[in-house]
Amino acid sequence: MELGHLLFTVFSAFFGLAVGSFLNVCIYRIPKGMFFKEKHSYCPKCGATLKWYDMIPVFSWIFLKGRCRNCHEKISARYPVVEALNAVLWTLSAYFFGLTANAFVYDVLFSALIVMTFIDIDTKEIPNGIVLLIIILSIPLFFTARDVIWWQRLAGAAVISVPLYLIALVSGGGIGGGDIKLFFALGLVLGLYKTLICAFIAIVSAGLIGGVLLISKKVKKGFELPLGPFIALGGVLTVFLGDMTVNALRALFGL
Ligand SMILES: [Zn+2]
Repeated sequence: MELGHLLFTVFSAFFGLAVGSFLNVCIYRIPKGMFFKEKHSYCPKCGATLKWYDMIPVFSWIFLKGRCRNCHEKISARYPVVEALNAVLWTLSAYFFGLTANAFVYDVLFSALIVMTFIDIDTKEIPNGIVLLIIILSIPLFFTARDVIWWQRLAGAAVISVPLYLIALVSGGGIGGGDIKLFFALGLVLGLYKTLICAFIAIVSAGLIGGVLLISKKVKKGFELPLGPFIALGGVLTVFLGDMTVNALRALFGL
């Protein structure tokens, strides 16, 4: 690994942590429609304004043992998890793609997918703004990631979203509009083949986790599993391992 690549990777880890803090704010505020209203961060329980040293990603949470400094109310472990997750994905992105335009595009994509995941878990809604952001992210990829031909991106947008849309029309429910829009947007980013792999990972992982939740009686029958997190998992894995998988399948089937 060259020194420049190493420095960029280390920088991405720390910057990813800092951006992770911002993602927590997004997850909390976007569903409430209060994104630009509040300036200070505060404890949701006692309202105490947080000091800068209470907001150091991951470390503050560990140092305060997951409790508010003022009222000692538990602070969700989700905050450090989101920060660490973003840092890990940005580090991997820097490691895999180096100091390239694609690395930055995928960084923003991963952060958007993290925010979408937790908002979908909380509200069972995928915000249109995040879908739009992912569509916008695909535009530079048309020029910088030429390994995917332009028509494959358009085909990727349609290959899962159109059948899902038709199923939703016929069945009159079951599949969320947000999931359909998300597959459309991700298809533009991933292209035809990787979108199929992403959908496969999403379906298998959702089936597994849904099954485990049912068997362990954590949820009741008829529970609607939010699909956004599984589509995000498929998307992230496919960005890193999609090319390898496509090549392996090609070799396997002699294409
Ligand atoms: Zn408090």
